[in-house]
Amino acid sequence: MTYLDNAATTRVSENAAQAVMDAMRENYGNPSSLHRMGLDAELIVTDARKTIAKAISAAPETITFTSGATEANNTLLRGAAKVYGRRKNTIVATSIEHPSVEETLKALEQEGFIVKRVKPRADGSISLTDYLYAVDNDTFLATCMYVNNETGAINDVADIFSSVKLKAPDCITHTDAVQAFMKIPMKVTELDADLITFSGHKIHAPKGVGAMYIRKGLRIPPIMTGGGQEKGLRSGTEAVPLIAGFGAAVKEQLPQIDVARSNAVMLGERLRSQLSELPYVKVNSGANCSPYIVNISVEGIRSEIMLHFLESRHVYVSSGSACSKGKHSRVLSEMGMSDKQADTALRISFSKMSSWGEIEQFVSALKEGYMSLEKIK
Ligand code: PLP
Repeated sequence: MTYLDNAATTRVSENAAQAVMDAMRENYGNPSSLHRMGLDAELIVTDARKTIAKAISAAPETITFTSGATEANNTLLRGAAKVYGRRKNTIVATSIEHPSVEETLKALEQEGFIVKRVKPRADGSISLTDYLYAVDNDTFLATCMYVNNETGAINDVADIFSSVKLKAPDCITHTDAVQAFMKIPMKVTELDADLITFSGHKIHAPKGVGAMYIRKGLRIPPIMTGGGQEKGLRSGTEAVPLIAGFGAAVKEQLPQIDVARSNAVMLGERLRSQLSELPYVKVNSGANCSPYIVNISVEGIRSEIMLHFLESRHVYVSSGSACSKGKHSRVLSEMGMSDKQADTALRISFSKMSSWGEIEQFVSALKEGYMSLEKIK
């Protein structure tokens, strides 16, 4: 089997799976319980929090666990709007955010906020000048994703946010760092981001767990009320097994970020070099992209048709992003791509578990698909 859809989700690592099992079978106490079993469970959560904080050079108390990045994006954006959007009314965002940000912004527009969406350049990345132009005296919140999930385009978030802070010192900055976390070394001390979103299942942890970073001193109200767990920010009994798996995955990968990145660079180069021999394939990902994501278009063959052909050869990739199943890619059209090119796009994405053999399998199945499938005019 060739699994090259790691931007959609990844296989849980052995260490993470073991940590999940241990927390389910041995340390199954409720962290809120006052007895020993409760304390042991609480220690697991504390340890995972420390690990995730260390991964971004932050203090542990700035990290809150959630059910994933969707919940984190909702909590952070809605919360920031509630507290900091009282006197000012404008949010600056990009037009290529993940639906968990974009749909939340639409909901905030319904509440009366103004959202300015900055379009990407042809290579999929956001220009600092364009972003800064959108920020004015009325801007209280600026959000810009770190790495785009469809094209892999990297935005220079550190540069963008430090310039935003110069122009509008009170503006809160947020980045959805889901596709950057554990792939690009990240230090909150160098990022100028007040709020950051992470997800577990993109980095070999289980699905259903994520985290949010909230800079010390900022006030974000919860979207759920209840038992007051996670310092009142995220009520509900902590998902101890999933959090344990998240912590274990981060702990395991932290010392290997550079090695894994070099491996992804090599795989990407191999893939691009093989694809360059196929005149019917165009690479849509630009030069400044995450080495983990390569977006391509295959002339004349709709994404879904090729995807299912590849699937018949046990090769798994994605058409655009997994979250926009069957829908036209907003990201690619925002980049100025024709419908024809966008409708034939495939996303190939690697993880630390990807291999050379998988690249060979993919290219060989792609060639076979191109030869045998009927082309659209
Ligand atoms: N943000 C980005 C950039 C993503 O790629 C994803 C997942 O596809 C999410 C947010 C949502 O993450 P989760 O599945 O943890 O809710």
